[in-house]
Amino acid sequence: MRFEFVTAARIVFGAGSARDVAPAAASLGKRALLVTGAATDRAAPLAASLQSAGVSRLPFAVSGEPTVELVRRGAAFAREERCDLVVAMGGGSALDAGKALAALLTNPGDPLDYLEVIGRGQQPPLPSAPFIAIPTTAGTGSEVTRNAVIGSPEHRVKASMRSAGMLPRLAVVDPELTLSVPRPVTAATGLDALTQLIEPYVSVRANLLTDGFCVEGMRRAAAALPRAWEKGSDYEARAAMSFAALLGGMALTNAGLGAVHGFAAPIGGMFDAPHGAACAAVLPHAMEINVQALRARAPESLALRRYEDVARLLTRKPQATAEDGVGWVAELCHRLEIPPLRAYGVRDEDIPELVAKAAQTNSMKENPIALTEEELRRIAAQAR
Ligand SMILES: [Zn+2]
Repeated sequence: MRFEFVTAARIVFGAGSARDVAPAAASLGKRALLVTGAATDRAAPLAASLQSAGVSRLPFAVSGEPTVELVRRGAAFAREERCDLVVAMGGGSALDAGKALAALLTNPGDPLDYLEVIGRGQQPPLPSAPFIAIPTTAGTGSEVTRNAVIGSPEHRVKASMRSAGMLPRLAVVDPELTLSVPRPVTAATGLDALTQLIEPYVSVRANLLTDGFCVEGMRRAAAALPRAWEKGSDYEARAAMSFAALLGGMALTNAGLGAVHGFAAPIGGMFDAPHGAACAAVLPHAMEINVQALRARAPESLALRRYEDVARLLTRKPQATAEDGVGWVAELCHRLEIPPLRAYGVRDEDIPELVAKAAQTNSMKENPIALTEEELRRIAAQAR
């Protein structure tokens, strides 16, 4: 047994916890870059409380998933304003933007110096400026991950900046912030959270510590996601999903992901599909092909037994087979009205490029079995 585990330096979870951010922020800096989503009014109470705590806030709004150009612009602004702290409140996009900007506050240069795949892929040598992450959706778990995903429209791909120094100093998970998330976003982000519990559990890098988080997270998400989708104001269900997303973030940053996220990167880069929606559309199909490939080529593998665990946790049936788990996820996607990839403009003729790009990702290398090009093509074709 040998593993390593990293997470945010401090995690605060609970209803109303977002109201207590200002004193913590005041202990970390004096000039905060306040990164939000497009709906900046969501952060008005936070902005006011920072002000009262003596922290100047320099607002920076992120509409849509962050791009290289947006991060470049934000870094110039934050450096010019001599920010010494980054507070991000929003979905995964705002959190990832804030995380990248906190790194670029202390590290010189351009985002492309640090971006994997499309840039020079250097790890930022210095720890980030103190970064506080406050998620308003229950999905990415970005509040406890060490990477920021940035899109490059020019390369039609998404890539990460990554280093342990980018882990948030403080993650504040307040499930009350998610009560107003609309249904389609609840579905997509919730299925991203579920994917981020399943993939690390079957990943080639799975470890004992993250296994426990994944099991607990899958159990909770399986019960809570349909409820949160049915009735958005159900606090217990929302809190269970916020917790599951947090566990997923802790799991993925330490144990890796798999084929679903391997596809999500090029899908998000080539098409206007939100990350969660891309994962949701691919998840049942990647699970199905993975289970088939394992049965055919590695019937004695631990991964196959793990897919059985997944099935038993999701279906709550002690006799469930790996295939039953696939069926349960497909049924959930149907019930939560997850659109197929063609809804985002993915055409049959795009599949070869998607497959070629997905095969190159780090996530694909963490998949429990190496999939053939034909198997990857089938996943994409079925998800379309
Ligand atoms: Zn994800």
